[in-house]
Amino acid sequence: MELVFATQNRNKLAEIQQLMPSSIRLKGLMDIGCDEDIPETRPNLEGNALQKAEFVYANYQVNCFSDDTGLEIDALNGEPGVLSARYAGLEKDAAANMAMVLNKLEGNSNRKARFRTAIALIIDGKEFLFEGIVEGEIAVGKRGDQGFGYDPIFIPVGENRSFAEMTMAEKGTMSHRKRALDGLLNFLKTLED
Ligand code: IMP
Repeated sequence: MELVFATQNRNKLAEIQQLMPSSIRLKGLMDIGCDEDIPETRPNLEGNALQKAEFVYANYQVNCFSDDTGLEIDALNGEPGVLSARYAGLEKDAAANMAMVLNKLEGNSNRKARFRTAIALIIDGKEFLFEGIVEGEIAVGKRGDQGFGYDPIFIPVGENRSFAEMTMAEKGTMSHRKRALDGLLNFLKTLED
């Protein structure tokens, strides 16, 4: 089966292709001639993931999946959540986003947070959702220089290092994205039987 992952990022695509069952040939948006900016205007991660997958299915008639991720901080009522990429502005600047989080949490002892990834899959018009969560806490300052986004200020439960102090492989064993992807992959394997 051919399956389109709603991404323009070849690295993300290659990383996921190697985890797929051999019966699945993974394609990216560039492989189906889609270079549009797909709208992400829903109020939650699941909504955005579905919106992107529905866009691809409706316009290109291909089985597909898409993902959306956010950092949810308890003391900020779940912010930045769906706004994670553009929390401090449309420039999507990671340093500014982290500064905003650290400012808002200054002096607050409740640092509980989680990364959550939603994956929406559409097969022959049927929709399926998968979720991956990693619980943790927000550090008092930035630590490490690996990774991207909020990695320098997120410490997963059971660790004393931030995601940015881990190698990509280490983070990959426990990440929200990996957990959501495991759900998707297990489901795809059941389709093989
Ligand atoms: P996306 O849905 O994967 O594009 O993620 C949205 C935003 O969430 C990104 O722009 C980052 O700010 C943040 N984010 C997503 N995944 C991670 C991660 O693994 N580490 C740190 N930040 C992340």
